[in-house]
Amino acid sequence: MLTAENYGYSGIVQLPQDIELLRTQTRRLVDRDLRPRTLEIERERKIPEELVATLRELGYFGITIPERYGGLGLSTLAHAVLQEELGRAHAAFNMLISGNNGIGVMGLVLAGSEEQKERWLPRLASGEWIAAFALTEPNAGSDAQAIEARAVRDGDRFILNGTKHYISRGDIADLVTVFAVTDPATRARGGITAFVVERGTPGFRVARIQDSMGSDVIKQAELVFEDCPVPAGNVVGEIGQGFATAMRILDLGRLSLAARCLGTMEELLSVSVAHAKNRVQFKKPIAEQPAIQHMLADTATDIAMLRPALYTAASRRDAGETVTQDAAMLKLYASEALGRAADRAVQIHGGMGFMRDCVVEGIYREARMMRIVEGTSEIQRMLIARGVLEGQR
Ligand SMILES: Cc1cc2nc3c(=O)[nH]c(=O)nc-3n(C[C@H](O)[C@H](O)[C@H](O)COP(=O)(O)OP(=O)(O)OC[C@H]3O[C@@H](n4cnc5c(N)ncnc54)[C@H](O)[C@@H]3O)c2cc1C
Repeated sequence: MLTAENYGYSGIVQLPQDIELLRTQTRRLVDRDLRPRTLEIERERKIPEELVATLRELGYFGITIPERYGGLGLSTLAHAVLQEELGRAHAAFNMLISGNNGIGVMGLVLAGSEEQKERWLPRLASGEWIAAFALTEPNAGSDAQAIEARAVRDGDRFILNGTKHYISRGDIADLVTVFAVTDPATRARGGITAFVVERGTPGFRVARIQDSMGSDVIKQAELVFEDCPVPAGNVVGEIGQGFATAMRILDLGRLSLAARCLGTMEELLSVSVAHAKNRVQFKKPIAEQPAIQHMLADTATDIAMLRPALYTAASRRDAGETVTQDAAMLKLYASEALGRAADRAVQIHGGMGFMRDCVVEGIYREARMMRIVEGTSEIQRMLIARGVLEGQR
């Protein structure tokens, strides 16, 4: 059910009933158990254990993992809706489960062998294990093809050497999908391979946690691989096809990020409306000031534009279409719109919006990463323009 608090709902997209039901359940969980803990989580830099346990019990670590491996096996559309709802709570909830539902495991789900899926997916679906995705390196960020991590075949194993950084959940991950060069001559055209590396593999260590301007509830870490032996059975997909796999994973990741931005914008609008109605200056609520109303209107408009576009792209992906272009557009639009919405929300709250005990302050800082992760805004524009020039749109 979409409620009156769901500001900005355009009414354009009618979702299937089962997805509406899932939305209602998640909405209840978010409003009853998660949202009230936002400031505590921000302060303590930790999600309370009982809430992690709740997410595990309710299956949120396995939203996208097929049912036969213990997941919920939900569609891209349903996943988007659940992330949107969770996006109204502290960003750490979506970040915690995003590896297991997205970039950390999608390589296995999309390209893994039956044996690999049976071996790893059940533990990830239950949330017993946490997954991470390690592509970025100190010398290869936007230009991911330039990675230097090297995996050299040695009988029935590969010897992995290299450094990955800014890896979300890298410090807590039990399983990392790592990308490394297996053929320097061909690199992205057949020379980059995806591997599953388990925590505890000799030569694999978390070198350091990288403190950030965000809440750091879910952290980024530098991972080092030194003569790390990875069994050949841990190669995900075909040898040499890792770069193509990474790009497929990122298409989905970008839809997910758009959904998370959307939910956070709804939260910003909701708390801004409440504050604007409540805060009296010049003997009347600031909500009566056109300047405040315009800010609320702009955020509501961004929400209304984004939601149907996101649901449409997710549905198209569920129908088997390639959504690279849509995912890039949605990630670009949503992350930039979230930045604007967070800035307006701080402004509407005045001095309070700058203070640590105000929800919008934390959202403002955390939101900044959305224009950087999984391809910066500049890289999304580059991808979109490439598609446009090829006549896609
Ligand atoms: C919070 C956070 C979490 C992350 N989590 C992960 C993770 O889990 N796994 C992972 O692998 N990586 C992760 N990353 C890394 C992230 O994907 C990279 O930071 C991002 O892709 C940008 O790379 P970079 O930081 O090296 O910036 P650079 O590539 O050095 O870019 C610097 C600037 O140059 C611009 N630029 C670069 N090339 C071009 C171009 N051709 N045209 C125009 N502008 C250009 C960029 O847009 C940017 O503004 C994370 C990063 C952050 C901040």
